[in-house]
Amino acid sequence: MARLVMKFGGTSVADLDRIRNVAHHVKREADAGHDVAVVVSAMAGVTNQLVQWCGQAAPLHDAREYDAVVATGEQVTAGLLAIVLEDMGVNARSWQGWQLPILTDNAHASARIVDINGAELVKRFEEQKQVAVIAGFQGIYKDSGRITTLGRGGSDTSAVAIAAAIQAERCDIYTDVDGVYTTDPRVVAKARRLDKIAFEEMLELASLGAKVMQVRSVELGMVHNVRIFVRSSFEKPENIDPAKPPVGTLICDESEIMEHQIVTGIAFSKDEAQITIRRVQDKPGVAAAIFGPLADANINVDMIVQTVSADGKTTDLTFTVPSADYERAHATIEKSRGMIGYERLDGATDVAKISVIGIGMRSHVGVAAMAFKALSGRNINIRAITTSEIKFSVLIDAEYAELAVRTLHALYGLDKA
Ligand code: ASP
Ligand code: MG
Repeated sequence: MARLVMKFGGTSVADLDRIRNVAHHVKREADAGHDVAVVVSAMAGVTNQLVQWCGQAAPLHDAREYDAVVATGEQVTAGLLAIVLEDMGVNARSWQGWQLPILTDNAHASARIVDINGAELVKRFEEQKQVAVIAGFQGIYKDSGRITTLGRGGSDTSAVAIAAAIQAERCDIYTDVDGVYTTDPRVVAKARRLDKIAFEEMLELASLGAKVMQVRSVELGMVHNVRIFVRSSFEKPENIDPAKPPVGTLICDESEIMEHQIVTGIAFSKDEAQITIRRVQDKPGVAAAIFGPLADANINVDMIVQTVSADGKTTDLTFTVPSADYERAHATIEKSRGMIGYERLDGATDVAKISVIGIGMRSHVGVAAMAFKALSGRNINIRAITTSEIKFSVLIDAEYAELAVRTLHALYGLDKA
C-alpha cells in the first residue's frame, strides 16, 4: 500500500458537483488501501474575488491582512470535501495550515515553506486510515503564528511539500489537462502527451509558459525528489481501474527515465519585447549601467545579446523583457542615457521566443544548428539566440511563432504518429 498526495486545483473543485467528483477519486484510492492526503485549492474564481476585495477595501493594505482574507478560499473547500467524504462513508478530517502546522517564513503573500509536521497525519493513517484533507496555499509564520499564503498558484507547492513531509510515494496533481505535452496542443495538433519528463526539463517548460504547475513546486519536487504525476480530474472516477497504470505525465528524476529523446518539448511565448541599444560605448561598466537600473525597477531581463564591437569604441546591445514591462524598460534606459551613452534606442513588441528543451542536448551536438537550418528553410529570421545546457531559445517575429513551433516539433520527431 502506498502513501499518496492528491492535489485538486480550482476548476476541479469549482462547485459541489465537482467536489463530489473529487471525493470519488479520493475514495477510489482510499478503498485501494492507500494512505491519502488531499490538498485542495479554492473553488475557481474565489481567490480572485478575495484579492479584488482587498484592493477595493484599500489599494495599499497590510500583507498580513491580505493573507488573512485570501487564505479563506481553501478553508471552505477543505471543509466541504471532508463533509462530502464523510457522507460517502470515508473517514476524513480537514486541516488548515496552522493545525499541522505548515511553518513558513514571514514573506506574507509569497511565503516560503520552512517546515511541515506530518506526524499527526501519519499517526491517523496508521491508527484509523483517516484521509487528511488539507487547505493548500497557506501556512503560518513560525514566530508570530499569523496566517501566510504562498503566492498565486501556491497549492501545488503545498502539495509537493506535504508529499515530502510524509514521504509519499507520489504526488498526484489533478488538473484540467491530462498531462504535460511536447508543446501546446492548441498550436500543434500533433503534440503528444509525455509519459515522463525530468524535473529540470519541466522547470524550463513551466517557467517558459507551459502553465501546468507553479514553478516553485517543481523546484521543490526536484530538491526533495518527490515524484509528481500530472493527470486529469475530469476523467470519470468510475472509469479508472486502480490496478492499471494511470494516464498522465510523471515528473521525476532523470535517472528514472530510461530512454531520453534529444528534445523533450518546445515552449513559446509571445509576451516578449525586444530592446536594442545602438552604438553603446564599449567600455567597462556599461552593462552594469544598463542592467542595474532595470533590476532596480524589478524588470526581468531575459535574452541578452551583445555584438562584438567593430571599431573598438561602440557596440549594439539587444535584450528582451516581458512585453508588459516594455514601456517601463524603455523609459528606464532613457533615464540613464547620460550614464550609458548611446546613439539610439530601438524596440519591438511583435516578437516571440521559441525554446527547445531536452536533457539529451547535453550529450548531442548540432541540435540547435538543425533548428537554424530548418527555420531559414521557412524564411524565418532569427533576431537573437541564447543557449544553455539543456535548452536553446530563438527570438523571431511574432507572426511566425506558430509556424516555427510546428516546424521544430516535426524536425525533432515529436509529432504523434
Ligand atoms: N487559490 C490560490 C490561487 O488561486 C492557490 C492555488 O489555487 O493554487 O492562486
Ligand atoms: Mg494552479
